[in-house]
Amino acid sequence: MNASVRPLSHAPLALPARTIALAEGDGIGPEITAAVVSILRAVDPALEFDRVAVGLKAYRAGASSGFGSDVMEAIARHGVILKGPVTTPQGGGYKSVNVSLRKTLGLYANLRPCAAFHPFVATRNPGMDVVIVRENEEDTYAGIEHRQSDEVYQCLKLITRPGCERIARYAFEYAVANGRSNVTAVHKANIMKLTDGLFLESCRRVAADYEGRVGFQDRIVDNMCMQLVQKPETYDMLVAPNLYGDIISDLAAGLVGGLGIAPGANIGEAAAVFEEVHGSAPKYAGQDRANPTALILSGALLLRHIGETEAGASVEAAVRDVIGEGRVMTADLGGSAGTRAYGQAVAARVQALRAAA
Ligand code: NAD
Repeated sequence: MNASVRPLSHAPLALPARTIALAEGDGIGPEITAAVVSILRAVDPALEFDRVAVGLKAYRAGASSGFGSDVMEAIARHGVILKGPVTTPQGGGYKSVNVSLRKTLGLYANLRPCAAFHPFVATRNPGMDVVIVRENEEDTYAGIEHRQSDEVYQCLKLITRPGCERIARYAFEYAVANGRSNVTAVHKANIMKLTDGLFLESCRRVAADYEGRVGFQDRIVDNMCMQLVQKPETYDMLVAPNLYGDIISDLAAGLVGGLGIAPGANIGEAAAVFEEVHGSAPKYAGQDRANPTALILSGALLLRHIGETEAGASVEAAVRDVIGEGRVMTADLGGSAGTRAYGQAVAARVQALRAAA
């Protein structure tokens, strides 16, 4: 077990009946989704799933964007969707479903926890347990570009005070709700004094509201990268504008062992999408070989998001226990278990944790 992981209590769960939208996606999506459904049912037998199609299946049924109005209606009804990976066709077809959903639903926060599974998933950073909150809509990703002349092209970096305050507040609220003690703002305000300066100033202002509950510090992004590589275990939560957040979250995922175990969430005011960071890995589709951990941990994030913090913690603890024992692991982690057997082992462990509570 990772020594840095916080102790969890497993008080009996008494969850209200709850329905979440569920899209299995393409490639390995159906297999890893089936594993997650069995685990979520183990933690809460009353959980209902409203199944919708995204990706190739939806496209072939006539949804030119890769998802139809039924998906938007289901998300509006339930507020949350658990989404498997979607294949993005090359040279035609639909645009990235993930980007379209993010824009349509105003998903302003990207949440990426990166925790080591030492010693069972290879990493040089056994104590690393960082949650990254990335602003998802602004910065150079606003898509405002100009061609000034044939020789000069320009991309605008858009940073707004409401956008900065909202992402900073989300990070601090997450820290409070999930027992995190410190938030680090990542920026380059020494060079971009207005845009990154506004981001830093906004983070400082929001941090003042949490003084005494959550600590605050800031780091310049280049220094942040070096520190993440050298001593990641000293960081708890990071909050960053879009571009820096995009880069450091992949850096951090690599430091804890790669995509197979990296969960994610995109959060908006009225809706949230929970999904693994990896893609549809078509070469493993239908082979009972894919690692469902990233989507399982995304399901745990979903439970935390809907206020079922204890249930989410139980799922995370079960994953850590099963991987920690090193007996039932998928091939990418050096084991020989299939997707189904690994999912069953985690579901059984969730049930055992609940029974022992
Ligand atoms: P990928 O993440 O699907 O796969 C890259 C490699 O990582 C695979 O070949 C496999 O070796 C490994 N891998 C990934 N997930 C794994 C898992 N759960 N278990 C075991 N091994 C795993 O990336 P790609 O091959 O570049 O993309 C494939 C498709 O997925 C593309 O169409 C791409 O557009 C799409 N994609 C979707 C998402 C998403 O929906 N969130 C994200 C990234 C890529």
